[in-house]
Amino acid sequence: MLRYDLAELLRTPGMRQIYDLHEPPFADDDVEYVAPITGRVTVTNTGTMVLVRGPIDTVIALECSRCLGPVRAPIHADLEEEFDVAIVEDAAQRVAPIVEEEIGRVFEGATLRLDVLIRQAALLAAPLQPLCREACPGIAMKETGDPEDGIPLNSPFRVLGKLLKE
Ligand SMILES: [Zn+2]
Repeated sequence: MLRYDLAELLRTPGMRQIYDLHEPPFADDDVEYVAPITGRVTVTNTGTMVLVRGPIDTVIALECSRCLGPVRAPIHADLEEEFDVAIVEDAAQRVAPIVEEEIGRVFEGATLRLDVLIRQAALLAAPLQPLCREACPGIAMKETGDPEDGIPLNSPFRVLGKLLKE
């Protein structure tokens, strides 16, 4: 999904392809899309560069930065990427690609991995401190006294202590 074979475009300077995106929600490595990914992406071979341009919209799942509850964050991003045609062609002609170098690559041979670009764009566009609601009070704490397990709430050993009990 979200992978496009650009072999013909790469062979054809001046060629342009338009992709209308309607990708159902899915979970990627570190991003969970909870609404369809929509958008219109234009890929152009200028002769020296491959340009990938266009708006994408989706909704991703995040954790509230105060209470760790679920947050649905709407994402809008404008893709604006360019790749050297020679580099893409090299990748297309490589017989035995080195696996380590493939991580995070946008092109696999002549295949454009739009999922990689969209994931990067979604992470960049995501709010740094998402809140489930403006007035989220954070994790509920008792006003006075220590919690039931006897470990002070502000103790750095609190998490460790909990783990040890389990
Ligand atoms: Zn919250």
